Amino acid sequence: MKYCSHCGAPVQLRVPPGDDRKRFVCEACHTIHYENPKIVVGCIPVLENKILLCRRAIEPRQGLWTLPAGYLENGESVSEGAKRETFEEARAVVSNLVPFAVFSLPFISQVYLMLRAQLDDLNFGAGTESLEVRLFHETEIPWDLLAFPVIRETLRKYYEDRSNGRFLFHIGDILKDITE
Ligand code: ZN
Repeated sequence: MKYCSHCGAPVQLRVPPGDDRKRFVCEACHTIHYENPKIVVGCIPVLENKILLCRRAIEPRQGLWTLPAGYLENGESVSEGAKRETFEEARAVVSNLVPFAVFSLPFISQVYLMLRAQLDDLNFGAGTESLEVRLFHETEIPWDLLAFPVIRETLRKYYEDRSNGRFLFHIGDILKDITE
């Protein structure tokens, strides 16, 4: 941040009185611009024994596979956001959304909220941010071609739970943007 979004004056990065970390502070109007993690909401769309994945048409990780996910918008609930992203990226309608996992990605200040969902029917297709959308059986999941570690971890937990015969709610940290 270079300029104050309130008055347009240049901002400075410094610790405000009584605070314990640096913030962008406007010297003109004294606004303190707090910045906090962004929330990403995503879906695991399931139909029978298969999961819907999207192949990314955009950077980063163009050409790699991911679950439908994106930034939660202002004024939107978590399940509304997950449904919207699933429709935008996979042109798919989902229902019966159930919280499945929350992952912290402190290195990029993001929090992922992933929900399990029922894919309503076979009416799906590539949205503008996808090259291709298709259903995968567990044995077909392209583990080496997944776009992000958080997606890999979500799918891993999903299949672990499914093989154990019960789904839990998971909380985890993704510490680096590398795939094993
Ligand atoms: Zn200002």
